[in-house]
Amino acid sequence: MKTEKALSDLTSFQRALTDHVGWLQNWYQAVLYQGDIPDPTASACPFSKWQSGLEADSLSKYEVFETVRTEHSHMHSMACRFTERAASGHPITTSDFETLMTTSLSFGAAAQTLEREVWKTIATLDPLTGLSNRQLMQTQLLRERDRAIRERKSLCIALADIDFFKKINDTYGHSMGDTVLREVSDVFSMLLRPYDFVYRYGGEEFLFCLPGTNPETAVMALDRIREAVAKRAIYDSNGTLVKVTVTIGVAAINADISVEDCIVLADKALYSGKNAGRNCVKLFNE
Ligand code: GH3
Ligand code: MG
Ligand code: MG
Repeated sequence: MKTEKALSDLTSFQRALTDHVGWLQNWYQAVLYQGDIPDPTASACPFSKWQSGLEADSLSKYEVFETVRTEHSHMHSMACRFTERAASGHPITTSDFETLMTTSLSFGAAAQTLEREVWKTIATLDPLTGLSNRQLMQTQLLRERDRAIRERKSLCIALADIDFFKKINDTYGHSMGDTVLREVSDVFSMLLRPYDFVYRYGGEEFLFCLPGTNPETAVMALDRIREAVAKRAIYDSNGTLVKVTVTIGVAAINADISVEDCIVLADKALYSGKNAGRNCVKLFNE
């Protein structure tokens, strides 16, 4: 997910929360002072409108989203009940108020947890490419290595490095260089299988983690990715085609090799790929 998208979805969520507090205040004052009571149903609330909109989509994948949703509708069922009672001349009691406040607090707590979860995701993303950053990589690689050993499955790690990237920057400018980084990241994200991982490892270097994949399959899969990068049509502002290629080094991980050592081996394979003329995939061999 892109950082800008995550940030704008978060902003719209915060706005919906503020609108919701405004709605609750209006409703409560109207009930308390026998004014014009706003429609208490959940569907009339600004928060529900946000919830059914597209902006809520990226947040709905968080587990706590369901709690936010149910606490919100719970609050509105209560508001409906109290509205009916107020309309028939029964003023809202202290105990009603306390029950409503308890639900409101649970809703607020769930909303805060959701916000925290989104911030956590944002902290693990590389802002330029939207790929996961090194921070998340460290934890996930250790977890995948443990899993591979436990389940006796193959696991390959690969390092990809854009060829002559300095020249791309020098020829077309740094901002075009940034565009190339984004385009290449898009190719990676599109072509990887759902259970593979890719991270922005450094400037123009990316790390792949391919669980359940033996070295031969890894080389084949990565070669398809290499080819797709070379075929990607990337143009500068004058419409000139910018040729971009990547070199990839692959190494297999096992119980005898730590994550760090495996990255070193993949880097050695990458280095041999650069020496062999670039735009190729090399497997580390003793
Ligand atoms: P090689 O084929 O051997 O990999 O050569 P290279 O030019 O790709 O490698 P080198 O390490 O000499 O240059 C990498 C360049 O990447 C240098 C650095 O300024 C640039 N770079 C690193 N991060 C970014 C970034 O975020 N944006 C842009 N535009 N350039 C970056
Ligand atoms: Mg490099
Ligand atoms: Mg490079």
